[in-house]
Amino acid sequence: LLVLGIETTCDETAAAVVARSPSGAGDIRSNVVRSQIEEHAPYGGVVPEIAARAHVEILDHVIAQAMADAGIGFSDLSAVATAAGPGLIGGVIVGLTTAKAIALAAHRPLVAVNHLEAHALTARLTDGVAFPYLLLLVSGGHTQLLAVEDVGRYRRLGTTLDDAIGEAFDKVAKMLSLPYPGGPEVEKQALQGDPERFAFPRPMLNRREPDFSLSGLKTAVRLEADRLAPLSDQDVADLCASFQAAVVDVIIDRVRAGGRVFREKLGTAPTALVVAGGVAANGAIRTALQKLSIDAGTRLAVPPPQLCTDNGAMIAWAGAERLSRGLTDPLHLSPKARWPLDPTPLTARA
Ligand code: ATP
Ligand code: MG
Ligand code: FE
Repeated sequence: LLVLGIETTCDETAAAVVARSPSGAGDIRSNVVRSQIEEHAPYGGVVPEIAARAHVEILDHVIAQAMADAGIGFSDLSAVATAAGPGLIGGVIVGLTTAKAIALAAHRPLVAVNHLEAHALTARLTDGVAFPYLLLLVSGGHTQLLAVEDVGRYRRLGTTLDDAIGEAFDKVAKMLSLPYPGGPEVEKQALQGDPERFAFPRPMLNRREPDFSLSGLKTAVRLEADRLAPLSDQDVADLCASFQAAVVDVIIDRVRAGGRVFREKLGTAPTALVVAGGVAANGAIRTALQKLSIDAGTRLAVPPPQLCTDNGAMIAWAGAERLSRGLTDPLHLSPKARWPLDPTPLTARA
């Protein structure tokens, strides 16, 4: 199977071609990502209207590049996959409409992929992970622990009660006047800082349910920053390091809780701990999870950073996984701004 994948749910315009063999092995034939960071940077965050317009302007070129890089034409495709949500509705409409047009013109099936499902399945492309596995999904908009039982079968074990972890990184960066996007900046600052200078709270520690809460920690950082103002470079670095250390402690504790609940609910151990979403690019978090997995005797699978943040290859791959199970979608499908992964409604069978 050869699938074109399109991603336009947020601030990345992306397209990729991915192959899936009958044995389930994946191969990325092309992967073009055009980030809109420069367009949004002056506003300190993603502006939906600007994002939608930028997608309209460059999506055609991004798709043409992905097809050229893969050395194929539309008639070589088995299907056209696109992220039909969740996300900023203007962008989702652009991607879905384009995918429908290509599917119609090339007489190929359309596969509507849930953006979160694509993050969830990426580790099967990169690491060949088998079901069922425990997924820590940590991105700009989501923080969840999920049991991934099969394609289209995702059981949510825990979620954040307030901010997503990526969002907390971005907000901390903003309050410290670091450039957008904040996550990587906070990590860079943390390398120069003292993680023990501030004893920030570790919300939800030792709770049975594998849920998260980040707003108290975020507020604690704000109060400390206000108290110290004006901030020296060292203050900023220490605040970042202490914040990141708290996040790491919370993640490790919550993943442990997630592992326990996984075993209880599924009656079996996960084949692996998989981490996905943009925050998985964070080195301190990766290192801590590596240690946890070794201690727990569980395999850790973290896709490379460029496949953790938004990209077309994950959409193409999720599309190929769905297509291999006969799951395709009608051309009158509507875009979805909100689309929870649990439960993912099974769409029409081909
Ligand atoms: P969603 O997938 O929930 O719709 P999104 O697509 O915007 O949200 P991603 O693109 O997967 O999210 O990830 C972006 C987020 O990851 C941002 O919040 C960013 O700050 C965060 N992030 C990226 N790199 C790092 C890093 N090194 N450390 C911490 N956070 C990071
Ligand atoms: Mg993004
Ligand atoms: Fe994402």
